[in-house]
Amino acid sequence: MTSERINIFDTTLRDGEQSPGINLNPFEKVEIGEQLARLGVDVIEAGFPVSSPGDFEGVEKIAREVHGVTVCGLARAIEQDIRIAWDAVREAEHPRIHTFISTSDVHLEHQLRKTRDQVLETAGRMVALAVSLCDDVEFSAMDATRSDPDFLAAVLSAAIAEGATTINIPDTVGYAMPAEFGTFIRGQFEKTPALKDVTVSVHCHNDLGLAVANSLAAIEAGATQVECAINGLGERAGNASLEEIVMILETRRGDLGKTTAIKTTEIDRTSRLVSQLTGYDVQPNKAIVGKNAFAHESGIHQDGVLKERTTYEIMNATSIGRSQSDIVLGKHSGRHALKAAMEELGISLDEEELNQAFANFKKVADKKKQITAIDLEHLVGEELREQSDIYELRSYEVMSSSEFIPTCQVIIDKEGRELPGKSFSGGSMESIFMAIDDAVGTQGKLKDYQARAVTGGKDALGEVRVVVEVMGEDYAGTALSIDVVEASAKAYVRAINNAYRAGAVK
Ligand SMILES: [Zn+2]
Repeated sequence: MTSERINIFDTTLRDGEQSPGINLNPFEKVEIGEQLARLGVDVIEAGFPVSSPGDFEGVEKIAREVHGVTVCGLARAIEQDIRIAWDAVREAEHPRIHTFISTSDVHLEHQLRKTRDQVLETAGRMVALAVSLCDDVEFSAMDATRSDPDFLAAVLSAAIAEGATTINIPDTVGYAMPAEFGTFIRGQFEKTPALKDVTVSVHCHNDLGLAVANSLAAIEAGATQVECAINGLGERAGNASLEEIVMILETRRGDLGKTTAIKTTEIDRTSRLVSQLTGYDVQPNKAIVGKNAFAHESGIHQDGVLKERTTYEIMNATSIGRSQSDIVLGKHSGRHALKAAMEELGISLDEEELNQAFANFKKVADKKKQITAIDLEHLVGEELREQSDIYELRSYEVMSSSEFIPTCQVIIDKEGRELPGKSFSGGSMESIFMAIDDAVGTQGKLKDYQARAVTGGKDALGEVRVVVEVMGEDYAGTALSIDVVEASAKAYVRAINNAYRAGAVK
């Protein structure tokens, strides 16, 4: 049976990035973008360029640097938004402008303060403007599920007539139910025959826990694009979770007859990277990517799985790429082995990068006996992120005991210049952060602190994420070390670098 292809439109970097506390710098956005391309998504919605200079820069950078995928920028149906979105995506291999306007009466009356006729006219005019700039234009009718179906159909028809090639019908507020949403989508196909000539997309929110179920109902009703996010990130309760949609289509392909271009063995790694850089942990029992998603605890289940895997398993952990906890390298491994292991991870290094990676690897391998693929992945990421930093932790010394106030001295490197800092304070972690502030000349306020082990064992790599407020704005930083104090200091310095990029630190 030939399966119909469903496009995966990833909005982790736009809708997901709007979640509170997520604060990605443009380099981190590119890192996630590159992994999304490796995962095989069709479209990356990279941001909302008009919303801030940082957002614009992130979208532009992804458009320039991430290949083999469509890069999309969001824009309200406003001339300035559309022109700025185009400026941000124009250098992409495949640029897309995604413009939207609300179509529900409640939004028209209270938010837009426009009549239906005005919305209809604006939608057509703004799609025409976008089409004059870019061949690939997506139009969304915001709050579609609470709109009058006839008016919605009129707006969608106008957008198609002006040249939109993808039409998105979102459940913006997460109110729909699956059977109802399927019927709604079928109704739009009947009212707007031109829909069969374009890509019909859905964008479902998870306020009632139905985002994935609603997306699936829409696919069964004829939608051919789903907007989703890694780990289900997104506004409020989030978007439909990419990994769930993809694995439903994959696992039940015989019944659904739909397929995607996703390389499912990249799912686990993508989930880990997004979780690491956003600071949003994945709940252990989360479908597909939760730590326990493939763990059989009950004796009866374990017994069954040992006898025959399919007794209790509908999917295999290796199908999402979860077999990488195997030990790949140790302290005696050479450059060749490191290069090969990196290539296995999909990372090719030039000679200079390999030298740097090998030096760092040796430092860790001296302290940690066994290096897993997951450790390597984190180490490489760490290195990439360090390259874009202007402030770097050169050294630190903390003296702490139960009897004395801790004292700390640090040296921070700023483009070859050494900045010393010191502090006396109530806790050893606090004293190190204050010493960094002293060196850089900032007054950061620690808003959040999370530490976790990357892999198991007493010698596990520790990863720390901090959120620091500088001049009234929050900046996040993540860093890795075999020593949690060092990881904390580096994470704080990374947050300071992000503040520097935004102009909050001189
Ligand atoms: Zn949304």
